[in-house]
Amino acid sequence: MYIPYGRQQINDEDTQAVVDVLRSDFLTQGPAVPAFEKAVASACGSAHAVAVNSATSALHLACLALEVAPGDRVWTSPITFVASANCARYCGASVDFVDIDPRTYNMSPGALAEKLQSAEASGTLPKVVVPVHFGGQSCDMEAIGKLSRRYGFKILEDASHAIGGSFGGRPIGSCAHSDIAVFSFHPVKIVTTGEGGVAVTNDGAIARRMELLRSHGISRDAREMTRADEGGWYYEQLALGFNYRMTDMQAALGRSQIGRLQTWVARRNEIADAYDQELAGLPLTTPHRDRNNRSAMHLYVVLFQDDSGRARREAFDAMRGAGVGVNVHYIPVHLQPDYARFGFRLGSLPVAESYYRRTLSVPMFPGLTDEQRCFVVEKLRGTVS
Ligand SMILES: *Cc1c(COP(=O)(O)O)cnc(C)c1O
Repeated sequence: MYIPYGRQQINDEDTQAVVDVLRSDFLTQGPAVPAFEKAVASACGSAHAVAVNSATSALHLACLALEVAPGDRVWTSPITFVASANCARYCGASVDFVDIDPRTYNMSPGALAEKLQSAEASGTLPKVVVPVHFGGQSCDMEAIGKLSRRYGFKILEDASHAIGGSFGGRPIGSCAHSDIAVFSFHPVKIVTTGEGGVAVTNDGAIARRMELLRSHGISRDAREMTRADEGGWYYEQLALGFNYRMTDMQAALGRSQIGRLQTWVARRNEIADAYDQELAGLPLTTPHRDRNNRSAMHLYVVLFQDDSGRARREAFDAMRGAGVGVNVHYIPVHLQPDYARFGFRLGSLPVAESYYRRTLSVPMFPGLTDEQRCFVVEKLRGTVS
């Protein structure tokens, strides 16, 4: 028996939805993509949704739509997947990191405020800040939103972990405090399309820009064209775009999945409640649970007390050896070899670095049985006692 840390759930309706597309006229650029976009926009209360082939592509298009360019600065959290930072580099901008809050592991609004203050003094303010809703729990978007109005930066939420969660009584992705939010539909995330991502926004011009760029920058819309329509074949390339399109098979799978979103998030929170109880009393820090803002509970991370990294390493090896697919989220992005060229080094972001030495993600997915969870808890208990 091997228990992974995350796993998709596919039922007969999902399979049928994909088969229906395979038997239809359109495998791509058909009606399934706009139908999925509508379902995502409706689930998160945004005006627009743009589906693409990954969250990485969505982050890239979002940066382009926010006009991130060479010379600009983009700030994000060091405790995230590399894609949250790389999107800025695709646009030629430079990346910097804001240390995390030791309690939530999200970007610290206090650290952000301090860093903005010194950046203002030195004329190095960021154009865009990318808060990452780590593990599915929203960042303090009200605080970050307030800072964005004071310092004039745009906000791109990396909500890859967080579809189905809420902040301030609104679904994550409503963009109440941001310009754009991005979701991932990789199989380990909350909802899957195999590979896939969606960017949501309330700004029609931003949505249109991302739509244009996901498909080569080509338009067939007479209102956007620079010359008169030369005939039925006519199209214009208006910008340098990409092929970042989602297929209709993927979109049909996503649309079928999203109907179970709230059930899954409820089940993830139930599993988290059980872990909280079963791990209480052990020398481990369990996740901070903000009762006012619902977490999508993508990850359940525990922190060891030992700051040397030894206890975590031993627990990782022992649990993997016992067939428990524990994992580590994340190696701080600024410590990646490809980021060393920008001058980041050990000690640059002490809270994130200490978090990294102590953290372990245990299995968390809706299909995790009570029996499997008890096995995980028993093995984890064995590593700390
Ligand atoms: C998974 C993930 C991504 C990338 O998503 P893809 O759909 O695989 O491109 C980006 N950011 C975070 C925080 C993620 O967890």
